Amino acid sequence: MSDRLSVRWTLVPRDCPRPVFACPTCGGDRPFHQSGKVRVNANGKRLDAWLIYKCDDCDRTWNRPIFERRLAADIPPVELAALRSGDPAFIRRLAFDLAALRRKTPTIIQSDDVTVEKAVIGGTTASVGIDIMLALPYPVGLRLDRLLAVELGLARSRIIALADAGRLVVRDGGNALKRPPRDGQTARLDLDGIGDGRAIIDAAGRPANLAADTTPRIASDDP
Ligand SMILES: [Zn+2]
Repeated sequence: MSDRLSVRWTLVPRDCPRPVFACPTCGGDRPFHQSGKVRVNANGKRLDAWLIYKCDDCDRTWNRPIFERRLAADIPPVELAALRSGDPAFIRRLAFDLAALRRKTPTIIQSDDVTVEKAVIGGTTASVGIDIMLALPYPVGLRLDRLLAVELGLARSRIIALADAGRLVVRDGGNALKRPPRDGQTARLDLDGIGDGRAIIDAAGRPANLAADTTPRIASDDP
């Protein structure tokens, strides 16, 4: 369909989730951040592995078990190699495993700091509507209404008004705007006859406003 611009937004959180619990050194609840390091201990034929976290305030470490007393022979060689070499992509997947973190603490801080990579996958900017497909390789903490507001260059109240008018339809409906977006979720905007519709459509396909200064292409010194 040529009357709608189809875009895919890929959301990449910059910070890993931070579990909160009592730090024995600080003497109160503190967020802990993952250090990027894993520890693997051999005990005969069995292995223990931990992901190392540090208290935000005092650097006290917390070892989050990845597995304990597991037979080395039962661990897929690829996983073991990734653990032993401290493979960053593997560690990042572990660090974003919210289900595993929730077994340790009910309180987890998820950053709103998200890089949005936009790709036009169909239609043109001469359209009167937008289909947004959301891709989330990792979970993010920010609300969908805030994401749409920032990335479309609109006030959050405008997002709500568009939804109330039936011009913004989000899959999963109901309270979806107040919740974090989900992988595969779609949002459809009908902007026919709206004064600033063209600007909104342009923003939908333009590289992320928020992260324009941190894309590797622009800021090559970004670590
Ligand atoms: Zn501490």
